[in-house]
Amino acid sequence: MTQVTKEQVMAALGGVGDPDRGQDIVSLGMVSEPTVRDGHVLFSIEVDPRRGAAFEPVRSAAELAVRKVPGVLSVTAVLTAERAPDRGQPQPQGPSPVGGGRAAAGQRIELPGIRHVVAVASGKGGVGKSTTAANLALALSANGHRAGLLDADIYGPSMPRMMGLSGKPTTRDGKTLEPMRNYGIPVMSIGFMIEEETPMIWRGPMVQSAITQMIRDVNWGELDVLVVDLPPGTGDAQLTMAQQVPLSGAVIVSTPQDIALLDARKGLNMFRKVDVPVLGIVENMSYFMCPNCGHQTDIFGHGGARQEAARLGMEFLGEIPLDIVIRETSDGGQPIVVGEPEGPHALAYRAIAASAWAALTGAQPRRAPPIVYV
Ligand code: ADP
Repeated sequence: MTQVTKEQVMAALGGVGDPDRGQDIVSLGMVSEPTVRDGHVLFSIEVDPRRGAAFEPVRSAAELAVRKVPGVLSVTAVLTAERAPDRGQPQPQGPSPVGGGRAAAGQRIELPGIRHVVAVASGKGGVGKSTTAANLALALSANGHRAGLLDADIYGPSMPRMMGLSGKPTTRDGKTLEPMRNYGIPVMSIGFMIEEETPMIWRGPMVQSAITQMIRDVNWGELDVLVVDLPPGTGDAQLTMAQQVPLSGAVIVSTPQDIALLDARKGLNMFRKVDVPVLGIVENMSYFMCPNCGHQTDIFGHGGARQEAARLGMEFLGEIPLDIVIRETSDGGQPIVVGEPEGPHALAYRAIAASAWAALTGAQPRRAPPIVYV
């Protein structure tokens, strides 16, 4: 295979002009150093936030120019801006059909083949959000829905490992990437494009652009539900992302002890701000299941999430115990829903998936009653 170099990429981009400034984007210092791995190229183009939407043709032209370099298999160009035009100010969303949403500069991302996009979120990292997202997507599939999985946790993409996938996505038409597939579902992750250890510094707008492209420029096919593993936390980046990805609903994952810290409430408020219904909460690491004797120990005050959900008038979707087998299967590339499909944990995830689906189809099209907190 022909080795692609950064120099070749930059040379190709030297032929792409900024129409307003009459010079090429490389000479203008707008292009970041590209990441090149096995023919897959990723780079960003820095633009003035006010020109974001107008710059889309230049972004496409840049991708096209690099795609012509011999040996290049895929190109991801993301637009970045030092300052997001509407940072921290969620745009009001009027009634919109399920699957509707807003892109970076107020454009709607059209996802005609996807009925519902569901985000899996958590107040902080390490609570099992990715494990839940993977098992939820597989459980939806096991329940007979056409499910897909998007790893939007670009700070720590874990889906390649959890879903037992390696290699790089390919493109058939030179425009859209084919998602990777395992256990019958399509999966996309920035982890396929960059090595897990590669340190990447993402700025807010770059994150949104990368996520938007991973949803829009991937050949997902016809899906009933696309499960999106969001980055942990409930800050600005997550908020803006929730605003731009066309979400039909969100599932919040929490451990019993985090509930005490009101992380779930923060998550709930975040989605409320962007008018996305919270489908419910999953309590993960709910209690400890002893692998030797099967004895159940409530290490973290099991049931906290159920109580909190009830208090906040939120759906409680179910609980998953802290069990070594869940860790081993998800870290070993075969999540428990497919690893032990008849086991109690798989059934618990399938029940959660069924409740989420019921909440989702009942929630469309975004007519959840307003919830008032005091
Ligand atoms: P997050 O996405 O919230 O950072 P992960 O899903 O990556 O969390 O989970 C963190 C670690 O905890 C992983 O090693 C995972 O396998 C493990 N884990 C998640 N849920 C459980 C569970 N219910 N029982 C045992 N281990 C779990």
